[in-house]
Amino acid sequence: MISKKVVLRFPKDIADKPLISDICKKYDLTFNIMKANIFPRKEGVLTLEISGNDESFYKGIDYLKENGVELTFVEESIKRDEDSCYHCGFCVAVCPTQALTIEDRKTMRVELYKDRCIACGYCVKVCPVKAMSLDSDI
Ligand code: SF4
Ligand code: SF4
Repeated sequence: MISKKVVLRFPKDIADKPLISDICKKYDLTFNIMKANIFPRKEGVLTLEISGNDESFYKGIDYLKENGVELTFVEESIKRDEDSCYHCGFCVAVCPTQALTIEDRKTMRVELYKDRCIACGYCVKVCPVKAMSLDSDI
């Protein structure tokens, strides 16, 4: 079983194709919508958590790519510059998923769990030293 958060960009010419329902039917995958920017006859961007067995998951991902969907895995896109971060905790206060969290109250170190990130970008906006970043295509 595998479950990953992905950002899917649907160019205008394929925005009306039922590709997500296709992968659910063809490969027995399930999904949760984390974020959606969809407008009729325009490019659409969806952030989904897609789940299924390992082989089916990657077949579904390949199917989306073959049909023109531009796809980015969220956990590969969120980054922290460890040299710049001084563990102030501002980002912890705004992170909706506890991808950024403080576990050790003695050190107050801010931990980053990339697999929990949903690419909302709030941490990028509040970090005073710009230590947090998301790939520009997200
Ligand atoms: S806001 Fe920036 S400097 Fe502060 S803990 Fe988060 S990443 Fe580090
Ligand atoms: S983009 Fe930043 S604030 Fe948003 S979920 Fe990811 S780590 Fe948390």
